[in-house]
Amino acid sequence: MKKTRFGIRRRRDEVIRDLKETTLSLGLVGEKYGVTRQAMSQFVKRERIKRPPKPRGERGHRVDPCPICQRILQISKTPRSEFISSDTIKGKLGKKLRPFQYQFHLSVLRAKRLVPPRFARIHSKKVEKAYAIYFRKSLPVCEIGRKTGLKNFASIISGHRESGWDVPPPLFVYRGKERGRIVKAAQQRKLRRRGGTGLR
Ligand SMILES: [Zn+2]
Repeated sequence: MKKTRFGIRRRRDEVIRDLKETTLSLGLVGEKYGVTRQAMSQFVKRERIKRPPKPRGERGHRVDPCPICQRILQISKTPRSEFISSDTIKGKLGKKLRPFQYQFHLSVLRAKRLVPPRFARIHSKKVEKAYAIYFRKSLPVCEIGRKTGLKNFASIISGHRESGWDVPPPLFVYRGKERGRIVKAAQQRKLRRRGGTGLR
């Protein structure tokens, strides 16, 4: 027993990382370092480690034999899966699945860090559609926004970029003349709108 305790002390940093960054049970973490659950529990107290919260029901759910988890994993591994909306993901899982079931399996996968952190964070079909056009067609961002009914698509993109999304630059290249034409057209639209609602 003394030898193994010395083991977790020697590998202290590694043990602390496992405890702080995973939601694995103390028993399982202990198993990895060859100590009992009780020894791990004492270690947590002694080192004053705050463990990440576990989503309800996650304990005991096994991802490998679960067809829903497996299907979600499969979707998350397709290219640019972060730009698929939650509605589309639910649709791919079948109509019988209830929303809370979807949430449950997704939260298990998130807690176990099996899906990318930004997967299934888009909840608007319009945003999903706009990104699909953005990746495929060489069109100005404002025009994509208009086609999909999103006035603020440009600010949605910059918001996503700021929070760490990997949004590639647009296929559309703003050349001198074209740029001037687009800016002018946008100004005219603005003026028309103002004209319609009265000057503020
Ligand atoms: Zn599952």
